[in-house]
Amino acid sequence: MTAKVLDGKVIAAEVRAEVSDRVKALADRGVTPGLAAVLVGDDEASKIYVGGKQKASAEVGIHSERFDLPEDISQAELIEQIERLNVDPAVHGILVQLPLPSHIDVTAIHQAVDPTKDVDGLTPISVGRMVRGEPIFLPCTPLGIVELLVRSGVQIEHADVVIVGRGALVGMPLAIMLAQKAPRANATVTLCHTGTRDLVRHTRRAEILVVAVGRPDTVTADMIMPGVTVVDVAVNRLPDGKLVGDVDFEQVAKVARAITPVPGGVGPMTIAMLLANTVTAAERSLEQLPS
Ligand code: NAP
Repeated sequence: MTAKVLDGKVIAAEVRAEVSDRVKALADRGVTPGLAAVLVGDDEASKIYVGGKQKASAEVGIHSERFDLPEDISQAELIEQIERLNVDPAVHGILVQLPLPSHIDVTAIHQAVDPTKDVDGLTPISVGRMVRGEPIFLPCTPLGIVELLVRSGVQIEHADVVIVGRGALVGMPLAIMLAQKAPRANATVTLCHTGTRDLVRHTRRAEILVVAVGRPDTVTADMIMPGVTVVDVAVNRLPDGKLVGDVDFEQVAKVARAITPVPGGVGPMTIAMLLANTVTAAERSLEQLPS
């Protein structure tokens, strides 16, 4: 058996085309969606990530602006910058690129972001609303995984889903989302981590297996059930420069029903969902105006 490859680039292109149409509809009403990316310090990887998000924004007609702030900025100054963006009507989405320098409390910064502009879905209010099943914005990577599965025809409802990795960006929010009694969810979710006693016992009974650890070959072919759908979230760089996920793609693809590649799987979906959330924020801003 050879797995169907769930091509994130193709599906993300579909999402981006829909976003682009929504941007045009907003333009007819005199609104250009605006995304503000806040970058603190000189981390090269962060600059590349933000650059990618800005390029993707431009391609669908979202105006993005990058705010480069010095590494030694104080927490109070950073909060002041975010508060300026909170009240700027041209800014519909605010993105604070992580990681932040160690002298800054990430939670305090997230708390400063207006939840109606939290297009990353990572602030305490957004997370709390997600847990209660009343989301404002859902975090982009888990949302991208759901979108990828739904658009690929993978049945989430009633499925046995096993997630490996409980990180705050991927595993934990995805577990919360898929466990909701709601469409595109209503799954039975098992969340595994380093405290899991017998990982294989869980991975072997998964109908949908999501791996978000950050270690190559965390999942090998002997650890899965034939017919499983495997979503490999991680991006690991090998010493030779090659990018790989956490899953032994070649061998697992012989057993699984479907699998996402790395690169070209979840990564493009994450960016597409950021664009979708930003346009949603702009649409909601119009709803709040008197007609
Ligand atoms: P993270 O916060 O470091 O979480 C990693 C998780 O993996 C932790 O919960 C850890 O368990 C668990 N873990 C580590 N070794 C394990 C093992 N041997 N068995 C079972 N669980 C194990 O990482 P993250 O931010 O969630 O990111 C995970 C990966 O996804 C990274 O490679 C990251 O680059 C990638 N990522 C990709 C995208 C994308 O758009 N494609 C977006 C975000 C992240 P403990 O909690 O017990 O320590």
